[in-house]
Amino acid sequence: MSDCLFCRIANKELGTEVLMENDYFMAFSDINPKAPVHVLIIPKKHFQDITDIEGDIIAKLPDFIKELSEKLGVSERGFRIITNKGKDGGQIIFHTHFHLLAGKDLGDLIKE
Ligand code: 5GP
Ligand code: ZN
Repeated sequence: MSDCLFCRIANKELGTEVLMENDYFMAFSDINPKAPVHVLIIPKKHFQDITDIEGDIIAKLPDFIKELSEKLGVSERGFRIITNKGKDGGQIIFHTHFHLLAGKDLGDLIKE
């Protein structure tokens, strides 16, 4: 069993409700939402942060985000994608992930 929380979610060991997935990514709601819609997107394969993800996997992310945002009903009004790297970036979980924030005017807020 992995000691990485998001690997355990990716392996469906924790019963987290999956909003969308394909071979490469999985999306689920953040446990502590900072906006009306706050979804986390993770690569199923473990990478520590944005700088570690394999190029051919990150290349598939825009299509996943597009489909997910349509499914969530936020594609037209828009959304924000945030990724945190390292301590000063505010990264708490060291399995890289992308925050999709939406459902209100996020204004100048750049941190979730
Ligand atoms: P970071 O600060 O690393 O970019 O973000 C980690 C995010 O993971 C936080 O927004 C936090 O609320 C979320 N989170 C932490 N533990 C869990 C969990 O067990 N389940 C879910 N769904 N989200 C989690
Ligand atoms: Zn992991």
